[in-house]
Amino acid sequence: MRKDFVANASHELRSPLTVISGYLDSLADEPALDPAWQQPVQEMRRQSDRMRGIVQDLLELSRLEAQGGEAERALVDVGGMLALIRKDALARPERPSIVSLQLDSDDLLLGSETELHSIFANLVSNAVKYTPAAGRVDIRWWTDEQGGHVEVRDTGIGIPPEHLPRLTERFYRVDAGRSRKLGGSGLGLAIVKHALQRHDGRLEVHSVEGQGSTFACHFPPERVAPRAGDVAAS
Ligand code: ADP
Repeated sequence: MRKDFVANASHELRSPLTVISGYLDSLADEPALDPAWQQPVQEMRRQSDRMRGIVQDLLELSRLEAQGGEAERALVDVGGMLALIRKDALARPERPSIVSLQLDSDDLLLGSETELHSIFANLVSNAVKYTPAAGRVDIRWWTDEQGGHVEVRDTGIGIPPEHLPRLTERFYRVDAGRSRKLGGSGLGLAIVKHALQRHDGRLEVHSVEGQGSTFACHFPPERVAPRAGDVAAS
């Protein structure tokens, strides 16, 4: 019942928030706006965007929890997906100077396109958020006899070891102030964990405070498929 309530409440909040954000956008672009209001309107826009982000994450998490079971097995081009996610990361105004992508496999994953995108986009977004401009983020996709693996490694602020076991709990943040400032909902890794479970996958986290973190997603061999052209060639 509590989960239903969260899903319904998030759904109900969506349209009023869209209206508020829309008016704030128009107000920000209004040339006649009193200069004294420019700063507060920008701040209201930022906060309403944050609220929209939280509502969106809550809806996504409730959807994942409601579905349960196994994710579908559509053919997903991981390499292409990661390239787009990297492009989005590079377009951010504040980001580490290097965001690299290494594709060591041509193979595809059998899964849900939306959920896999959500997993990788959340991990890359975190790496970018928690890494200073002078640092770097390295993304890699490879396959071997153990299955398919996506790794997101950063040279950012890192995570103290006592927090690692609780990272995927909803709303769990190492530093709530910092996460809020960076626009985090505290739900990203909960979404990652759920979506990965639906793909029979698991998340592995290594981190050293002050040095950086590595988040790796491991998928079993049954979830990996060769590209159609590769089958014909072999
Ligand atoms: P948030 O929206 O706060 O980023 P997440 O669920 O995605 O929420 O992550 C939970 C917490 O884990 C974050 O608040 C942050 O403290 C920590 N975290 C996640 N990814 C990283 C990372 N790459 N480097 C350092 N800390 C991280």
